[in-house]
Amino acid sequence: MILFKKAADLADHLAILAQKQLKTGFVPTLGALHEGHLLLIAQSRKRTGITICSIFVNPAQFNDPADFAKYPVTIEQDILKLEQAGCDILFFPSVNEIYPDGMGGPELELGFIDTVLEGSKRPGHFKGVYKVMHRLLRIVEPDILYLGQKDYQQCMVIGQLIEKYGWPIELDIVPTVRETSGLAMSSRNTRLSADAKERATIIYRALQFMKDSLVKGSVGELTETAARMILAEGFEKIDYVTVADAKTLEPIDIWDGKSSVVALVAAFIDSVRLIDNIILF
Ligand code: AMP
Repeated sequence: MILFKKAADLADHLAILAQKQLKTGFVPTLGALHEGHLLLIAQSRKRTGITICSIFVNPAQFNDPADFAKYPVTIEQDILKLEQAGCDILFFPSVNEIYPDGMGGPELELGFIDTVLEGSKRPGHFKGVYKVMHRLLRIVEPDILYLGQKDYQQCMVIGQLIEKYGWPIELDIVPTVRETSGLAMSSRNTRLSADAKERATIIYRALQFMKDSLVKGSVGELTETAARMILAEGFEKIDYVTVADAKTLEPIDIWDGKSSVVALVAAFIDSVRLIDNIILF
């Protein structure tokens, strides 16, 4: 694996590789890599000739400075894991490399998607995601971009970015990798005590409960019961437990029995904010 810290060096290297006409796959991450990230790398290796991973803890997407300060950094282990996973290139830039002119600039208008769920609970978060992905995709120019379903809304925001610029990039959304307990793997899980990690498994059980109990008509009772299940396990706060249209993320109160819907949860345990989702139908 070759490691690049400078965008210009990476771009030069990719320009040389382009002569080989190999497909490129890109896996952007914040680091603190786990099996979820490694599945994205594995998927890329199956379908492309060159897999590029980036590790960049993007300050622009952290609406809470304390969350940014506490974000786990494990670069030595990450490099080893990527080597073992067969990743070809790691891009590990500094903040200055990504934002040479600072993080300011014109305010982006993301529309409806930025007004619901993560958008409303983490103001500015998606604007930061949009900003960094705009920069990273222009540097890497991959054929296929690999993202995790775990960050369902983020996939939609990045899809919107690709569509807006008309970039010829295929989006491959990879299913969520879970612990055997059902807990969705997340870099933030490392901040949970063993006890909290055990209790956090309720999120997946609550999502499964919603999937098993979904019937045509009102979904209010479903989401209320799921929220009660989560609070009963000692979660201190719920940001949302919602059923939404799987294509638009418009909240659903009454399910018509045929449209595709997704259930999404964001909740705090041990002051750590966890998110998860499953397609219900
Ligand atoms: P992050 O480092 O958390 O920004 O994640 C980098 C990429 O890995 C994103 O596309 C995430 O959606 C994806 N990802 C994170 N956790 C998982 C997981 N448990 N399973 C699959 N993909 C994941």
